[in-house]
Amino acid sequence: MSFTWTSKNTAQNGVEDMVLLSKVSEDQITENLKKRISNDLMFTYIGPTLVCVNPYKKLPYFTEKEIEQYAGAQAYEHPPHIYAVADKMFQSMITDEENQCVIISGESGAGKTEAAKLVMNYIAAVSGRGGSHATVVEDVKRIILESNPLLESFGNAKTLRNNNSSRFGKYFEINFTKGGHPMGGKISNFLLEKSRVVQPGKGERNYHVFYQLTKGCDAKEREAYGMMDPNYFSYLNLSEEYNADGIDDRAEFMDLKKAMQVCAISPQNQHNLLSLVAGILHLGNVDFIEEGNNAVIADRQALAFPAYLFGVAETVLEEKLISRFMTTGGGIGRRGSAYNVPLNLEQARGTRDALAKAVYSRMFDWIVGAVNGAMAALAANLRERQILCLGVLDIFGFEIFDKNGFEQFCINYVNEKLQQIFIELTLKQEQEEYAREGIQWTPIAYFNNKIVVDLIESKKPPGVMAILDDVCFTMHAVSEGADLKFVSKLDGAIHNHPHYAGQQTHFTISHYAGKVRYNCDGFTESNKDTLYRDLIQLMQGSNNPFIQALFPETFDDTDRKRPTTVSHKIKTQSQELVDTLTRCTPSYIRCIKPNESKRPRDWDGPRVEHQVRYLNLKENINVRRAGFCYRNYFAKFLRRFAILTPQTWPQWSGDVRQGIQHIMNSVNMAADEWQLGREKVFIKSPESLFLLEEQRDRK
Ligand code: ATP
Ligand code: MG
Repeated sequence: MSFTWTSKNTAQNGVEDMVLLSKVSEDQITENLKKRISNDLMFTYIGPTLVCVNPYKKLPYFTEKEIEQYAGAQAYEHPPHIYAVADKMFQSMITDEENQCVIISGESGAGKTEAAKLVMNYIAAVSGRGGSHATVVEDVKRIILESNPLLESFGNAKTLRNNNSSRFGKYFEINFTKGGHPMGGKISNFLLEKSRVVQPGKGERNYHVFYQLTKGCDAKEREAYGMMDPNYFSYLNLSEEYNADGIDDRAEFMDLKKAMQVCAISPQNQHNLLSLVAGILHLGNVDFIEEGNNAVIADRQALAFPAYLFGVAETVLEEKLISRFMTTGGGIGRRGSAYNVPLNLEQARGTRDALAKAVYSRMFDWIVGAVNGAMAALAANLRERQILCLGVLDIFGFEIFDKNGFEQFCINYVNEKLQQIFIELTLKQEQEEYAREGIQWTPIAYFNNKIVVDLIESKKPPGVMAILDDVCFTMHAVSEGADLKFVSKLDGAIHNHPHYAGQQTHFTISHYAGKVRYNCDGFTESNKDTLYRDLIQLMQGSNNPFIQALFPETFDDTDRKRPTTVSHKIKTQSQELVDTLTRCTPSYIRCIKPNESKRPRDWDGPRVEHQVRYLNLKENINVRRAGFCYRNYFAKFLRRFAILTPQTWPQWSGDVRQGIQHIMNSVNMAADEWQLGREKVFIKSPESLFLLEEQRDRK
């Protein structure tokens, strides 16, 4: 390979740490990233933050050799690399006994999921070498790595932006023993995009698993699942897109089977899952015609496969799809009357789709639970106390489409929350630390997106979510115009907010990453996300215990509590996530998408500059520059570098500040390159830190 892994800052390669840019502007940052990626250098630092540009091709520096090179290396010893970030996390976790997390952000297609996998691969490679629990540790690592193809089959899809787009968010915590042996882990998943199951957009695909099954199954499976080519199924042929560049569905079906096995999903449950996947496809082929105002099944033969695969009687499935059981006039001491109300065409289709979405999303949660269960079982074998953990956050990126609905709204809200953490920890706390330590610096202005987060989640005054919930509780049916009512209420309550604009059927939020115009259509239904009792009871009546268990609800007619809405759930979940993340020492990976063409060497300057702007990279650099690339407590610094001077080595018992002065003198550190705060020593540029490290290595 001609690639040399010794690139330093050069005119041709740009700077490795953008803190060293001669002029800090969005233009210069973009130019620097362009220079680097033109030379196949996808990684660049801003101090400890790693900026990754998606290369859209396989680069040669992800081999065993680089893993060995970065393992245990010093900061800045080698060129910027995601392995350096992962290694620093792993080392700090063990040495400082602090839990770590890495927050990977960037828009759809920017390379977050690939980055997350590189981090996990690296950690799996360097952790738990040798030791007494070798086999368990190896099993844990295999599950950690194999959970990726498993969850990607069920949770990723081809979109216009990304052929392998994550349609759910994931926080993967790996647990370690004190000695750094992985002993288990836990996946938390967020918000699977359900609408895709029944309605993939034009030019997009449904979830990968559907194509894997339709294309990949053998003759026996074809028969068992009634499998046909993808274009036979409505839920797939709606979008007229059956292939995705770079994805071999047949090969991935084999990978999926292997992954299920590694994740301890029994052959019986593997069969159960695939039956449900097939059942959903067949259910989608059940269509209706209208007789009078009532829907009837267009072709009753279409009921056979879904009924068989779901383990329910055809007649019951039919009844539940074309009518709904309703009670009226009930109350304490009174019995209401019960009716079976026929549904019209639109309602019947809605019911069918609601069932498909519910089965799919419950199955997805089951899979996450199964992976977590498998890891927990291994951990239980170890009988060691879990002490430390390292989390990797890979969440769906910020999204702006031509038509944006409730799901985009939720996705973008979670991204706003993550941007808050970045601001809080990288910009705000950093500046607060300078102030606290009495370090001289010039404050840096930045856009704090708290105002947008409040606009969405505030209870008082009510923000978008509170108003949405309110409409959902006070209005029952779509026919009452609940969606339009929602926007008109928004307009009434927040019309003069600087980040909001209402337009009758739409509303626009100026997010930190750009303006997004949301179509209010379906907001209230999606937010309520109620599955009619009929459908739950239908599935509870399945002759397959696996399916029954996916629908564990019990019904209590006296329960008048407000049901949980999706926006409430996502708000609670993202707050829990924020709390978890802020308890860890964070690292940041900011992913940048260089173009819309998904091709290597295609650079769309204005697009990149837009991302540079909203990711706050300039402010990030300025804060680091006003500031310092390195800081550490006096005693820790002294311990590390005491060896540099005879005055401090082997023992320094004088004033710590004096000792540090000796060390700095020994390398002729320029006076403006460092400062002493109240408790910590600060060093300005990476070069100066490197000077110290180099001298230390020579001793
Ligand atoms: P989404 O928010 O839609 O899930 P994402 O940020 O997770 O997007 P990825 O799926 O990681 O994006 O990356 C999109 C595609 O870009 C990958 O399928 C791959 O083709 C390419 N890519 C990303 N990172 C790399 C890399 N490090 N090396 C080579 N190709 C890459
Ligand atoms: Mg992804």
